[in-house]
Amino acid sequence: MSSKKVIVVGAGIVGLSTAYFLHKKGIEVTVIDNTDGSDNCSHGNAGYVSPSHIIPLASPGIISQGIKWMINPESPFYIKPRLNADLIRWGLLFKKASTKARVDAAIPVLNQLTVLSKKYYEQILKDESIEAGYSSEGLLMLCKTASTLHHEIEVAEIGSTLGLETAVLSNQEVQKLEPGLEMDIAGAVLFKCDAWMTPGVFMKEFKKRLINKGIKIQHNTSLTGAKIEKNKIVALETNMGDLVADEYVLATGSWSPILAKKLGVSIPLQAGKGYSFMIKDPVVKPNLPSILVEARVATTPMLDGLRFAGTMEIAGTQLDINPIRVRGIVNSISKYLPQFKDQDFSQIQPWAGLRPCTPDGLPYIGRTSKYSNLVIGTGHAMLGFTLGPVTGHLLSQEILNEKTDFASPLLSVDRYA
Ligand SMILES: Cc1cc2nc3c(=O)[nH]c(=O)nc-3n(C[C@H](O)[C@H](O)[C@H](O)COP(=O)(O)OP(=O)(O)OC[C@H]3O[C@@H](n4cnc5c(N)ncnc54)[C@H](O)[C@@H]3O)c2cc1C
Repeated sequence: MSSKKVIVVGAGIVGLSTAYFLHKKGIEVTVIDNTDGSDNCSHGNAGYVSPSHIIPLASPGIISQGIKWMINPESPFYIKPRLNADLIRWGLLFKKASTKARVDAAIPVLNQLTVLSKKYYEQILKDESIEAGYSSEGLLMLCKTASTLHHEIEVAEIGSTLGLETAVLSNQEVQKLEPGLEMDIAGAVLFKCDAWMTPGVFMKEFKKRLINKGIKIQHNTSLTGAKIEKNKIVALETNMGDLVADEYVLATGSWSPILAKKLGVSIPLQAGKGYSFMIKDPVVKPNLPSILVEARVATTPMLDGLRFAGTMEIAGTQLDINPIRVRGIVNSISKYLPQFKDQDFSQIQPWAGLRPCTPDGLPYIGRTSKYSNLVIGTGHAMLGFTLGPVTGHLLSQEILNEKTDFASPLLSVDRYA
């Protein structure tokens, strides 16, 4: 047992998981968050817990593909052109990371983190009796073209060598898994290793459990700066006054680089805005979640309906919704799943969230060399919901100076300092 006090900034999946594991080890924890607690990126996402996602966004071919996407306003990717030094630096670092050698180095790191995190989710759901529609029956990659299918099969083969359970399915085999769903596809790959749940329900229930355990969660409290003495943070400055602890955790998602900069810490990161929407009574509710691969659209059967999610807009930290990109998601659905018609989407209420994207597609997890009492957990991009628990566990071990479950210099918070 330790008598340390810790303040966690950010009540997304990373912040709550860190608070959970710290509390388990006898630490007094307070979480602060600048919202009212009803929403953040950890609520409205596609809910995948995805060991299948072993290839980081920065990978060979992505830049030329991105340039093609940029000219189509309904495409799944967009960078708002701006003369912004942080964006330019991020772009150059992204380009540097998009090589086969860097991707090959990232794959085992993502593999170990995702597999561990799935294990932690299953433990949390069991120990805390949380019912959030969790299922570990897998994720389908639905491909329209033979060349995409070929690429997905290659990813599945890499996954298999890492011990992930995968299967290449004929159209008849996919149909057997989804008897009521019409699909216009060239073929599919099933990542049996994957799981999913209803993230908003999980977040709500998880937070309730934390509060019941005595973890203080202080909403509408915004971090604005810090009081520093030598290499130590002595207090956090917030709109509610100064807050003092022994150790501090920065888990503020896409806002992390702005806050880190105030503390003199450089963690290049851009917000990747995505949208989701729910259909409560879909014409057909699939048994499994699926990614409509070329369109980069995720579909997830959830407790309260069928969710669709997609798009990556690098356009700052505004949460405004671009209806043209939402239309792009809608238009792509019927190309794969022809039972869904335009009118099915007439009542949708789009949600927006910001994925915290590092240039190399790997998160920042650990202590900064600048301060003796600050750890950072962010930058998980499209894997943040998946990787919340493992990040929280690793940060709790770091704070308690324990041997961590997993360590890699590729996750260093200082790698771009
Ligand atoms: C459309 C979409 C679909 C996705 N689907 C998946 C998926 O299926 N699987 C998956 O693994 N990931 C998915 N993701 C990514 C995932 O949702 C994110 O990576 C993850 O939620 C990030 O969690 P976080 O805890 O780092 O940040 P957040 O959930 O953003 O939480 C950070 C919190 O910090 C708060 N904060 C910010 N600034 C301050 C401040 N100054 N003071 C106090 N608090 C502050 C914020 O308000 C927020 O509440 C998806 C994302 C999107 C957009």
